[in-house]
Amino acid sequence: MRQLLITVFIFLLSSAGYCAPVFEILPLGVYGGLKDGNLSAYLLKTIESENYTALDSGTLVYGLLVAVDRQSVHNKNVEDLLQKYIPAYLISHAHLDHLMGLVMAQPELREQQTIMAREETMQALQKNIFNWSVWGNFGDAGETPHLNYQHYQTMPLLQWIAIPNTDMQVKVFPLNHGGMASSAFLIRYKTEYILYFGDTGADSIEKSTNIENIWKEISPLIINKQLHGIMLECSFLNSQPDNKLFGHLKPNLFMAELRQLAAMVNPLYLKNSLRGLPVVVTHVKPRLVDFSNAQQDTREQVINELSQQNDIGVKLIMPEQGVMLSL
Ligand SMILES: [Zn+2]
Ligand SMILES: [Zn+2]
Repeated sequence: MRQLLITVFIFLLSSAGYCAPVFEILPLGVYGGLKDGNLSAYLLKTIESENYTALDSGTLVYGLLVAVDRQSVHNKNVEDLLQKYIPAYLISHAHLDHLMGLVMAQPELREQQTIMAREETMQALQKNIFNWSVWGNFGDAGETPHLNYQHYQTMPLLQWIAIPNTDMQVKVFPLNHGGMASSAFLIRYKTEYILYFGDTGADSIEKSTNIENIWKEISPLIINKQLHGIMLECSFLNSQPDNKLFGHLKPNLFMAELRQLAAMVNPLYLKNSLRGLPVVVTHVKPRLVDFSNAQQDTREQVINELSQQNDIGVKLIMPEQGVMLSL
């Protein structure tokens, strides 16, 4: 009994705080639709390095302008940021709210820059967007002619690969997004990790084990205090009917998925197993009423609903465009 109490005490102590920050996340766009100057895009780098990888690129140059304005980019200008300090773009899936900023900026990207995605997503980009019908092909594969301004790299699933010209590696996990192939990116720097989700439905609704498989991979990292945070989408409010989620999460599904993770990390102490873990809430879909009524803010309502259901003590974070997060 005494031994058990000591074990519990040590566990509580060790879960009280989180590890010292290793990663910097610069949100360039935080919404999952409608607000076309502020769509899913996050720059990620380690504190030690100057080079970012982009995690999706719904908004790119406009987000950089906001970041420069807010002095979140260490005195760098937009031109240098775009052409020198973002050597890699990881695209989770081919929906426009994750892609438009990159498409617009693509003629300005350079040879040493790489656009990376899993096979299905890369095919969709090359066949349906960079096809000389919707847009030019500035890359080095796909529809001819290739302008070779930058490199396309198809990423294998479930294998560690280097993110070119950064100090990070990525492992891609498949996600189900209402019948469309999407991806989660587990990013590694030395022995430290951070997890980014592209758009995803809940396992229960998608009849899938994709999220469960990711939880299996990261639960040992949480136990060992190597995971610095999770970036997970929550597109809708709880009032959104399950048959109108279109492959997305809402607060009760979001928390149900995290409870599954908590149960894997420590089934005996659910309330403490994820305590303090930073969870960045991405991809809220704004509603038109948010723009016409100053009292109305869907993102605020989403965070309220999530907080009410947060019986596992995760640290919920709402990202802001151009405001750096250290995790
Ligand atoms: Zn989206
Ligand atoms: Zn999507």
